[in-house]
Amino acid sequence: MSDSRNAPLADVDPIIANAIDHEVARQAGGLELIASENFVSEAVLEAAGSVFTNKYAEGYPGKRYYGGCEWTDVVEQTAIDRAKQIFGADHANVQPHSGAQANTAVYLAAIQYGDQILGMNLSHGGHLTHGHPMNFSGLSYKVADYGVSKDTEQIDYDELQRIAEQHRPKLIVCGASAYPRIINFERIGEIARSVGARMFADIAHMFGPVAAGLHPSPVPHADYVTTTTHKTLRGPRGGLILCKEEHAKEIDRKLFPGVQGGPLVHIIAAKAVAFGEALRDEFKEYQRQILANAKALASELQEQGLRLVSGGTDNHLMLVDVWMEGKGITGKDAEKALEAALITVNKNTIPFDQNKPFVASGLRIGTPAVTTRGMKEPEMREIGRLIAEVIHAPESEEVRSKVKRGVADLTERFPLYPKRLKAGLVA
Ligand SMILES: *Cc1c(COP(=O)(O)O)cnc(C)c1O
Repeated sequence: MSDSRNAPLADVDPIIANAIDHEVARQAGGLELIASENFVSEAVLEAAGSVFTNKYAEGYPGKRYYGGCEWTDVVEQTAIDRAKQIFGADHANVQPHSGAQANTAVYLAAIQYGDQILGMNLSHGGHLTHGHPMNFSGLSYKVADYGVSKDTEQIDYDELQRIAEQHRPKLIVCGASAYPRIINFERIGEIARSVGARMFADIAHMFGPVAAGLHPSPVPHADYVTTTTHKTLRGPRGGLILCKEEHAKEIDRKLFPGVQGGPLVHIIAAKAVAFGEALRDEFKEYQRQILANAKALASELQEQGLRLVSGGTDNHLMLVDVWMEGKGITGKDAEKALEAALITVNKNTIPFDQNKPFVASGLRIGTPAVTTRGMKEPEMREIGRLIAEVIHAPESEEVRSKVKRGVADLTERFPLYPKRLKAGLVA
C-alpha cells in the first residue's frame, strides 16, 4: 500500500500514463491553430501539479472557513495582486474554475433573473454564455442580440446603439470568441451608459493583447471584466473576474458561495505564475509576435485564394470562409481534412452562415500556440500554404502526405516539451 502510494504513475496506472505520453506526442507533433489553445510553461505545469490540489480553502485570503491556509493565502494574494497590476484594476477574483463560471458570477452580481440583457450573437462571434438559449444566460434572462453588419462583417456600433435603445437592457455583454477585429470598448461603454445599462466585457480571447497594451483595454469603461487564463494569457485552464471597487463585495459573494465551493488552489498557484510571466517584457514581445504572425498568416491565406471574414485580422485570430457560397467545402470537411494532415483548427460559423452550426462555412484559425513554439512570419507563410493546399484538395492522399511532411519539418524545428516527449512516440 505505502509502496504504491509513492510509485510513479506509469507503474500505478499504465492506461492513463500512456494516454498522457501520447498527448504530449500529439501536441508536439502537430500544428496547433485552435485560437483558444496554448502551451503553458514548465513552471505553470509544475504549480498546477502541486500538492495545493489537496487543500480546501473556501473563503478568501485572511477569511477562510478552513484551517491551514497560511500558504494558500500567499498563493491567492499573489495571484490577486499580479492580476490587478496587469490591468490596473480595482479588484480581482482569481477563483473562477473557468470562463463560464466567471461569467455566471457576473450575471448573478449585476442583475436579477428575468432581466433584459444584450449580447453579441453567437454566430457573429459571441459566446454561448452571452445569452444563447441553451446556456444558463439564455435560460435565466431575456436576451436581445447584436452582430456585425453584412457589408463590413464588423460590429455595427450604430445598430448596437439602436438595439440598446429599443430593448433598454440592464446589462450589455461584449467580447467575443470568433471576432477578428478590434472591439471598441469605449464606444460600447458610452452606449451602455446612454441607456442606463451596466457594461460587462468578456475578454477571454483578448487577455494577452489587452495585458500587453496591444488592444484597447475595457477596464476603464466596463463595470465588470472577465477572462479565461488559458487562451492568449498562456496560463492554466481557469477564469478571472476584474471589477470596480463598488462591485467587489458582490462579485466575491456571488462567485463563492453563489456559484462555486472550494477554490482550486493548485490552479490559482499556476495562475499566479502565469500572471508573473505576463508582467515580464518577454510577454509583450510574445503578444506582439502573435499579432504579427496572424497578419502574415492571413495575408498568405488570401494570396492562396481564400476569403477572410471582414477581409483580414487585427488580433490573434482569423475566420476563413471555406464555403464561399457553395464553391468551396464546408467548415466541417475542412476541419477533418486538416486534422488528417496534423493541422488542428476548428470549424466555425461565419456571419449570416448558410450552413448549420455543426457543419458551418468557416474555420477559425489562431496563432497563439504556434507563436509559443517560436514560429515567426516565414513559418506562418509556410503554414498558410500548407492549409490552402489541403483546402483546395481535401480528398487528395498525395497532398495529405506532402503536407504532413511539411508539418513534421516545422514541428521538429520548433520543439515542444522536449523533456516530456518519450522517444519513439509520434503523433
Ligand atoms: C472561451 C470563452 C469563454 C469560456 O471559457 P471556459 O473556460 O471554456 O468556460 C467565455 N467567453 C468567451 C468570450 C470565450 O471565448
